[in-house]
Amino acid sequence: MLEEEFYRTYSFYLKNKYKEKVYKLPVKLNITCPNRDGTLANGGCIFCSEEGGSFENCSVNMSVKEQILRNKTYISKKYNAKKFIVYFQNFTNTYLDFEDFKKMILDSLISDDIVGISISTRPDCVLEKHLLFLKKIEKEKNIQIDFELGLQSVNYRTLIKINRGHTLAEFIHASNIIHKFGFRICTHMIIGLPFDDELDIIEGAKILSSLNIEEVKLHSLYIVKGTKLCQMYLNGEINMIDKETFIDYVILFLRHLDKNIVVQRLLGRVPEENSVFCNWNTSWWKIRDEIIEKMKKNNYKQADLFNEFKGVEKK
Ligand code: SF4
Repeated sequence: MLEEEFYRTYSFYLKNKYKEKVYKLPVKLNITCPNRDGTLANGGCIFCSEEGGSFENCSVNMSVKEQILRNKTYISKKYNAKKFIVYFQNFTNTYLDFEDFKKMILDSLISDDIVGISISTRPDCVLEKHLLFLKKIEKEKNIQIDFELGLQSVNYRTLIKINRGHTLAEFIHASNIIHKFGFRICTHMIIGLPFDDELDIIEGAKILSSLNIEEVKLHSLYIVKGTKLCQMYLNGEINMIDKETFIDYVILFLRHLDKNIVVQRLLGRVPEENSVFCNWNTSWWKIRDEIIEKMKKNNYKQADLFNEFKGVEKK
């Protein structure tokens, strides 16, 4: 059973574009986020850990070049990989002194097999100076640069409850200016926030479609130790959705999503030792298979409920 038959997968997109498999090389830096350091808020989003969204990477004490070389050696051996995308993964990578940001980007271009750079950040931390600089690098080095933007929910009341420090408006603004410069955007969404319901899931797919977002990365809601969300969970203040509801929500999201949007992932995971709740103690790939199985059984596909925003005319 091929995933591509049911939704537009990232691996299929990459293989089509580069004519071979391409692998991401995560880089984790000793940086922070304005939602954690007191600029916007202290403590960050209620689900965010001290690791800032990445658990399995190299140490932050290693240089950009060292991390890339180490990950490249490992992935090349394991998968016989020949092309790579450098992925600046943790915290807010454009929330750096601008000179340090430029150095970070230039340091990552260590060889011709680096065909792209992905930069994780917040919608309110992408400024015109970043975009101008990155456009120049993209042209000079003939690589593709794209952004991974956290949004998590399109419900602005939920965004306040999870302490994002921005609302939907900042995301729309960021996607407009990033697109003006021609960069692709991958949006991160959490499926299963206790403050969201079915309508929020559908609206999320519709809003990303209407903004012509190019890619999406879905996350199941896992609960990392030491977070505000963990406290709320242990105090019994929130209820987690069950696995079946998660599967239904993911399918609902996909069915309302434009068929051109590439789906990088259906759910994430976090190491057991770091979490108090993760994926109903089921492997991520089993849940992914259950999603595909259910889509197959019901003849569902990405975009089969997508409204193409054609408007309504009087008959
Ligand atoms: S914006 Fe990202 S890095 Fe900052 S607190 Fe939220 S999840 Fe963590």
